[in-house]
Amino acid sequence: MTVPIHISARNLSVHYPLGRRLFGPSPVVKAIDNITLDIPRGSFFGLVGESGSGKTTFGRALLKAAPISSGRVRYVDDEVEYDIARLGKAELKDYRKRAQLIFQDPYAALSPRMTVRDIIAEPLEVMGLTSSREETDARVREIAAKCRLNLEHLRRFPHAFSGGQRQRISIARALVCQPHFLVADESVAALDVSIQADILNLLKSLQQEMNITFLFISHDLSVVAHTCDHVAVMYLGRLVESAPTRELFAAPRHPYTQALLSAIPSLDPDDRGQAQRLEGEIPSPSDPPPGCRFQTRCPHAIEKCRIDEPPLQREGGEHDIACHRWRELAQSIAVA
Ligand code: ADP
Ligand code: MG
Repeated sequence: MTVPIHISARNLSVHYPLGRRLFGPSPVVKAIDNITLDIPRGSFFGLVGESGSGKTTFGRALLKAAPISSGRVRYVDDEVEYDIARLGKAELKDYRKRAQLIFQDPYAALSPRMTVRDIIAEPLEVMGLTSSREETDARVREIAAKCRLNLEHLRRFPHAFSGGQRQRISIARALVCQPHFLVADESVAALDVSIQADILNLLKSLQQEMNITFLFISHDLSVVAHTCDHVAVMYLGRLVESAPTRELFAAPRHPYTQALLSAIPSLDPDDRGQAQRLEGEIPSPSDPPPGCRFQTRCPHAIEKCRIDEPPLQREGGEHDIACHRWRELAQSIAVA
């Protein structure tokens, strides 16, 4: 049985203008460029890549919170089907209930002058989803309990809490409207490792209980390894590889994915003699290199990689790769 697709992006680009030039084309930042990706319903879908690769922009574009320059986003659940770039006002209001963002930095995202109760209640009130204060309170208490917040704490202000508790408050706020699709952008990056595990477990159990599709964004591959069903890897505004998590970690195909993986010591205990360290900086998305975007840092780049951009191609069941040489490189590793 194939799982229905919840969100699909087709050739999606978000380009930001960088001022104007008198002569020649005006420069743009290609924050994301021509991304095609399907997110199945009910999946815990990981999106990884170094800082600056376009992960946040992609997540925001799906939520119609970043300006779509070209391409399409289709959203489908049991009740509605939306073309996200072309939502009318009423549809957008409805979409805001269905698709939500858990903020990256709960310290910055939460207003210090609001109580925890008011912070969680705000989306319900803004969207007019409840008809009385009692009903709002009941919804807030229900979601706070699900997020394992102490109900005594609802009357307090957020500065009184630790990072992990603040993240629970952010999660409760994102979930209070009972969304179907959630983007969690670096939701555990600022937390200690032991608390990261708590929050990941909480997200995972909420996902199952509430039947939510997750896009889980992280610059850290070790975080997605144990949480996500499927992982997509971005580099400089492009998708370079996408596969079921187990397959991606067992047999990464793209040299960029391999480099990200070998930078995680615990996942590569004997280094297998093939560890590639990622050297140099990610180039500027306003002036990406020609050919494959990774060619300036790739240890395997050849002439073809500097000229032709490799398309994202499906290799086997659900494994997508954008590399001219992956097959040849996999063979040479098998022989060695
Ligand atoms: P990531 O989340 O992977 O770190 P981002 O999506 O935040 O990447 O950014 C991708 C690129 O787009 C970066 O180079 C960033 O500077 C640029 N960018 C993001 N938002 C804007 C914006 N509003 N205006 C101009 N450039 C932007
Ligand atoms: Mg980001």
